[in-house]
Parts: sequence; C-alpha cells; structure tokens
Amino acid sequence: GALASLLLEPEPPSDDLDFDRTHLWHPYTSATRPLPATKVVAARGTRLVLKDGSELVDGMASWWCAVHGYNHPALNRAAREQIGRMSHVMFGGLTHEPAVELGRALIGMAPEGLDHCFLADSGSVSVEVAIKMALQYMQASGRTERTKLFTVRGGYHGDTCGCMSVCDPDGGMHHLFSGLLPRQVFAPRPDCRFGAEYDPSSLAQARDVFERHAREIAAIIVEPIVQGAGGMRFYHPDYLRGLRELADEHGVLLILDEIATGFGRTGKLFACQWADVVPDIMCVGKALSGGYMTLAATLATRDVADTISADGGVLMHGPTFMGNPLACAVAKASLDILRQNAWQTQVREIEGWLEHSLEGCRSLADVTDVRVLGAIGVVELKHQVNVQEIQKFFISRGVWLRPFGKLLYAMPPYIISRDEVARLGKAIFDAIATGRHV
Ligand code: PMP
Repeated sequence: GALASLLLEPEPPSDDLDFDRTHLWHPYTSATRPLPATKVVAARGTRLVLKDGSELVDGMASWWCAVHGYNHPALNRAAREQIGRMSHVMFGGLTHEPAVELGRALIGMAPEGLDHCFLADSGSVSVEVAIKMALQYMQASGRTERTKLFTVRGGYHGDTCGCMSVCDPDGGMHHLFSGLLPRQVFAPRPDCRFGAEYDPSSLAQARDVFERHAREIAAIIVEPIVQGAGGMRFYHPDYLRGLRELADEHGVLLILDEIATGFGRTGKLFACQWADVVPDIMCVGKALSGGYMTLAATLATRDVADTISADGGVLMHGPTFMGNPLACAVAKASLDILRQNAWQTQVREIEGWLEHSLEGCRSLADVTDVRVLGAIGVVELKHQVNVQEIQKFFISRGVWLRPFGKLLYAMPPYIISRDEVARLGKAIFDAIATGRHV
C-alpha cells in the first residue's frame, strides 16, 4: 500500500529551467552541455520582461522579426478577432479572407512583376519552395539538365536540406550532412563593400565560376545586399545588378532571399530595391507577421507560375499549415502598419543612432570593423566571442543581444528609442573594452 501510494505520487514539479536544460533542445545546442537559457515571462514594446520583473532592451527583434515591437495593440487585435472566427483550416480546396487579403497586400508591396504567392510556414520552407519552383521551371521548359543552384560563399538560407546545400560551405552544415546535400556551385563571397567605391573583381570571379557550370545551372540564389547569419556583411548593389544580368544572359532564374532583409530592415522596403533589381522568385518571412506567427511566403513572376503550370503541371508542395488564417490575419495587420510608412523615418533614425553609438568601438584594439546599414549595426572582432560570458554581462546591463562567431550586432525593433539604442551601443562598447567577450 505504502509503496503503491508512493509510486502514484506525482513527481514534484521540477524547476522550469531544470526541465528546460534536461529535456528541450535550443537552436544549435548540445543536449548534454546546453548553454544556460534566460527565462522570459512577457514582452512589450522593445522590452523583454524577466521572472524577477527586470526588463531587457531587445537588440535582436527576436532574430529580425519583431519589427513593430512586442504586444502591439493592432497585431493583438487582429489575432483576437481572427481566433474568434477560425484559427486554422486546410488550404487544400478551401480559401479564406485572411489569405486573400494578405496575398493582395503582399503582392501590392512587392517589386513589380512578382504576382504569384505561395504561403509557407517558415523561412526555410519558403526557400525550399523557391528551389523547387526553379527546378520545376527548368523541367517544364525542357531544360532538364539544369538541376544546380549557383550561389556565393558566406550565405545563409535556412536549416532544411535544400537550404543547407546553398549555405556557406565552410559552416558545419556541409561537412555534417555532406552525404545528403545536393552539390551546388559556389562563387567566392562578394568582396565589394556597400557604401564603398565598387570593385568589380568579385563579380568577375562569380562570372568565371558561373560560366564553367553554365549548362547545369537552374537559378542563382543569394541574400540581397546583406549576408546575414553567414557573417553579417553588406555588399555593393552593383554586384546584385551584375547577378541579375548574368541570370538574364543565360536564361536562368534569380531567387532573392529577403527573409531577413525584407520589410524595411535595410532602409528600403526590400533590399533588392537598393539595386533596382527585381528577382524572378523572392522569399520573405520573419517580419512578415511582425514576428507574431510562423509564416513566410515565396513570390514568383507570372512567367515562373505559368511555365510550371503549362500542360497540366502543378507546383509540388503543400504544407499542412499553409495559409494559416491566424498567421495571415496578423501578417496583414503588420503590413498595414508598414504601409503607413513610419518605418522609413524610424529606420533612418536608428541608422544614425547606431552609427553614433558604435563609433567608439572603432578605436578598440580587438575591433576589426564596425558597419551599419539601416537598422542593423555590426561590430566585428579579432576573436571568437564567448557567448555565455558576454550574455551574462549584457543581461546585467539590461540589454538582450546574441552574438555569434566574431560578431556583436543589433537589429532592434523599429520602435526603439534613441536612449535605448545608446544603451545597446554602450553595452557593446563596455563588453569589448573590459574584455567580457573573450
Ligand atoms: N534565409 C535567411 C536569409 C534567414 O536569415 C533565415 C533565418 N535566419 C532563413 C532563411 C530561414 O528562416 P527560418 O528560420 O524561418 O526557417
């Protein structure tokens, strides 16, 4: 009896952080030696609220996406109203107002000519769909030998297998999964800095590589202007223009991954607008729903859509949560905020504040570069950062930043104030100046 009651006794609730450490995977972590996680209990505006009531200024916008800040009244309202109608229905054979309204708004904002929209459920999936569109396009037009993608080193496009195949080949993705990934064609990293005088040698190298493989290539895929998770580098618009010309000369498609850069982050609504380039296929995600819901989209030109669909062809993709009404309703509300255009002034101001607050870092011995574009500020160091140590320091300073490699960087919500940017900049400066990063 005593034993039975002991066995039936529920386990005492373990501390959340203990459970998290023991049972939950976090991005890119070891299960047995996880990095410590900080528990966040609420988020509002630019602030993350911790268990003890303290607040952190969010310098990450939750990896680029929370552009309007957290707990936004208009986004909350859109979610509440939609959840009262329906939160999900299958998209196969059914449609609904949130998907139609979002599609209309998105196509209306996108560069001219992108008029067909596939609603995906994450950035990586939207890239997979883009890749499949390109391959199906070539199959449907009888150019079946064109099965490879051409890209550049230093890129990042997501963590699924097709995406990993076009990520920087020096990262862990390629050597860990080398047996599984399709082999793509890589040009050197674009070494022509945004804002500097244009040096055409990287493009010449890219052309050389392309021409050696020209007959096999279906599409060029790159992140426009900003290479994000592959190194936070900003390259010259002329390089992107050159890739558009290269694609046109060879009749291949240009896929632009605007997942991180889209919706104003670089100071243009889409980064490709720095170069006046219109892609054949464009991926968006992250800020699409203001960071509220898991949603992304792949936009394509009429030519891409019609070619794939000729002779009864179908685009061979259909995720369960495609066109999720809740996500679409929130995304439509987010695009409505962007269409009021306050983001332009906000991003321009943030750019100035970031430049000002990171300027001092240039004089630090460990700093090799400081670069700012739109609402993105990057400090590059000589050494790898000790993420665990530096995050402890940042939290003690009331800011949330997540460095990687040799990079400290911020891409805050657009509603951040001058004082809050100054707080982020000071924390970054002090972390390096006092050696907290090593
Ligand atoms: N492409 C780019 C440029 C990205 O920055 C990311 C996300 N970091 C992805 C694709 C993948 O998106 P997701 O994480 O939503 O799958």
